[in-house]
Amino acid sequence: YYKEDSIIYHNGTYMHPENASGNLYSQALHYGNGVFEGIRAYKTKSGAKIFKAEAHYKRLQYGAEVMGIPFNYSINELVEITYTLLEKNNLQDAYIRPIISTGSDMSLSTAEEATLTIQCWEWGKFMGDKLLKVKTSSFQRPNPKSCFVEAKITGHYVNSILSTNEAKNAGYDEALLLDMNGHVAECSGANIFMEKDGKLYTPKRGHIMAGITRDTIIEISKEVGFPIEEKQFTLQELKQADSAFFTGTAAEVVGLQSLDTYVFPLSWEASLGYKLMKLYKQEVLCERSQKLSEAV
Ligand code: PMP
Repeated sequence: YYKEDSIIYHNGTYMHPENASGNLYSQALHYGNGVFEGIRAYKTKSGAKIFKAEAHYKRLQYGAEVMGIPFNYSINELVEITYTLLEKNNLQDAYIRPIISTGSDMSLSTAEEATLTIQCWEWGKFMGDKLLKVKTSSFQRPNPKSCFVEAKITGHYVNSILSTNEAKNAGYDEALLLDMNGHVAECSGANIFMEKDGKLYTPKRGHIMAGITRDTIIEISKEVGFPIEEKQFTLQELKQADSAFFTGTAAEVVGLQSLDTYVFPLSWEASLGYKLMKLYKQEVLCERSQKLSEAV
């Protein structure tokens, strides 16, 4: 992620990372009290385009609000800073990581100051392009009564790291987590969809990250006429699905080969997920035709 000539935005200035200093007494470091985002920019025919930049920065603002972290920027200002940062790094296809770290305060109420840092780098599909072998995690997603599950708070990601480590150590690619009630929730850093008898299902909001890619997939499906429903479902139901896929800004759309010992029977190329993967790519590149017949 780090290159010697890269430029970051830190504490109000554009600078080389080696000139930036961190805070050893930050609550973000000690207690996980920071908020971040994961955004992508794409090289389109009319230049770099940050996909749903406003939605991402609004989610950052929401996270700051629920944690009481100072947020002294307008959404437009943040979008502008990010375009400038891409230009300074000479990047069009990029992953963008804004993070607001809290200041020095060893008490357990939020510090009064906070520092915004934005980094960007070139990054391929986070989970790769191959179909994934997924393991049901022994860890549950965080309980909405113990934290704000729709906020991207740094400390929440310890749960994601535990579940990913567990899956990888057992020889799988990724983890699937259930919620506190045993319903299917999401992957450690992506949402899940399943296809059954020509219809798509994705867990409804409440115990999951309200993914911006998830929203986009729902919007596209409705536009092109793929039946889709947001509802709770169990692991047993998922293990009777024809096909399944994950969605996320970093992962984009990626198909599942198997879940534990269950192999999804429909070939990926024949699934709605595969069509949506293509439509999503067209969408982020601003090349999606409104007509399904032309698009897939
Ligand atoms: N779930 C979790 C736990 C995540 O961290 C992410 C990434 N932000 C997602 C889902 C996907 O969200 P998005 O599509 O907004 O990137």
